[in-house]
Amino acid sequence: MDLLKAEDKRVNSDEKMFQMIYDMSNSAFLYYNFEERKVKTVGSWDAFFGMAIHTLEELEKLGRCVDEKYTDQFMDFLFPEKRGIQKGNITICLQKRLAGKKIWLECEAIVKYGQDGRPKDKILRFEDITKLKSQNEELIYLAYYDILTGLYNRNYFVRLLGDFFRKAKEEGKPVAILFVDIDDFRKINDGLGLIIGDEIVQQFGQYLASFESGNTIVSHFNGDIYCLAIYDPTGRESVEAIYGKMQKRLEKPFLLSDGREISITVSVGVAEYPEAAKDALELINCAEIVMFKAKAAGKNTIQYFDMPILDDFLRNVTIENKLKEAVSHRNFTVYFQPQYNVHDGILRGVEALIRWRDEEGNMISPSVFIPIAEKNGTIIPIGTWVMEESIRIFSGWRKKYHSSLILALNISAIQYKRTDFVDNLLRILEKYEVEPSGVELEITESILIDDFEEVTDKLLVLKECGFRISLDDFGTGYSSLSYLKGLPINTLKIDKSFIDTVISDNNTKIITESIVYMVKRLGYETVAEGVETKEQFDYLKSIECDNIQGYFLGRPMPSDEVEKLLQKTAG
Ligand code: C2E
Ligand code: CA
Ligand code: CA
Repeated sequence: MDLLKAEDKRVNSDEKMFQMIYDMSNSAFLYYNFEERKVKTVGSWDAFFGMAIHTLEELEKLGRCVDEKYTDQFMDFLFPEKRGIQKGNITICLQKRLAGKKIWLECEAIVKYGQDGRPKDKILRFEDITKLKSQNEELIYLAYYDILTGLYNRNYFVRLLGDFFRKAKEEGKPVAILFVDIDDFRKINDGLGLIIGDEIVQQFGQYLASFESGNTIVSHFNGDIYCLAIYDPTGRESVEAIYGKMQKRLEKPFLLSDGREISITVSVGVAEYPEAAKDALELINCAEIVMFKAKAAGKNTIQYFDMPILDDFLRNVTIENKLKEAVSHRNFTVYFQPQYNVHDGILRGVEALIRWRDEEGNMISPSVFIPIAEKNGTIIPIGTWVMEESIRIFSGWRKKYHSSLILALNISAIQYKRTDFVDNLLRILEKYEVEPSGVELEITESILIDDFEEVTDKLLVLKECGFRISLDDFGTGYSSLSYLKGLPINTLKIDKSFIDTVISDNNTKIITESIVYMVKRLGYETVAEGVETKEQFDYLKSIECDNIQGYFLGRPMPSDEVEKLLQKTAG
């Protein structure tokens, strides 16, 4: 008798221990023995279902606890033996009636069958996986959406666009992409800080979300780039309608949380399937290329895809690839174009102009490849090469013929901004024993855009070293005469666009005359570029322009031809 009691006690305490363990876990278990027809439950049963279960009839009632759309599935799960299942697993959502909260349950069923094939025991396990699920959902959210704007991210946009494409191919409908980029966003970020930048991206993104519909997907790629896809647009009309609304919205500034008001403009590139591209990624690329075209066209505008734009782009990509090769093989030469003094007809100097013949023997113009080299950074090795090569050749001439000849060098803004620019230049000059006073550095107004003071400080350093400074392409940029007086320059080059029309157009004549007059008053020399005719030459001489450069007096030529010119003058 005592032994039995002791055994009972042990069983009871084991059960208690298990009970406690189950209660602490996030699970509930149900055990059913088919022979004894007894139901036993342990664990967080009450917390999940709020009711005790002692019989199979009661178990059936559980079906009502779950979200309606899961009821059938759940009933099947509660009685797996009815379908002869041994092991099963489902996840259902349980709408808790008490707190009105939803929880997610992972349910597992195991049924053991006897030799006769009849079910003997079954165990149902329920686990609360709400937390896991919400973490999962967060991950899914991160995978599909952009946190800053709440719009679809790039990856998911591409997936959805894929669906549009499948439909469009089946139904023979078009798809349009609008690639939207905020203008001068870097300036906003640099000037006002990343937080303000983010707020603008967010607000504009939220505005764009209003275009979202069954036929329009709106996404935020990154930074200041958004992409919209329209399924079956009615020609340009639907695109223009969206663009029009966007423009209207952007007429008003965004009100930021600190009370500041910021206005932005955007550049938009549009490409349409099937005209521009055959698949989603390609179409996005086309729209992006066209957007860059909109930027180049002065920003705050919309640009539609056409083949020449793509051809241009592809040509540039080809050039870019070839350029990298050319840089490593130094496949360049320098030509020199003479500049003459108008009054005495003496050769004032030569401008070094780079020439590139690619492997197939095609001449590629520097006006095409220099901008590409500036974008991809190869302008640095190229620029250094031109400086060294032309100074080397020039050094020979100076020593041999003409001690006062000037070498004019084109300096790209990118080169100019480098901190080692001055030292490099001085090092080359020292190597070839050329005085800085023999070198005129041609800079363009684009250099002045960034930080006027920093730029002029550097110009002063260069001038102190003895270099001559010339402002190139005057008349194509800001062309404000007012800032000229503050610039430490020696020479101003009047752009070819003026010279082209100076004879035919009276206004150009008036402007050119006043430029020459004012520049002389400021104490600078003038050089007229692109002079092609005797008429232009005579006219420029009559208004006392100092120097002339152009096909009329001499084209850019290889060094040996310059040598012949120098021999002639010397002889
Ligand atoms: P740029 O500095 O304005 O050079 C003058 C351009 O006008 C040269 O074109 C020259 O060949 C051309 N030109 C001169 N006289 C006439 C004329 O009478 N009629 C016509 N139609 N054209 C004339 P090029 O050599 O094709 O160079 C184009 C541009 O490429 C240059 O414009 C310059 O901005 C850039 N560039 C050339 N070489 C270099 C270089 O070594 N470094 C840098 N950074 N840029 C360079
Ligand atoms: Ca030049
Ligand atoms: Ca020029």
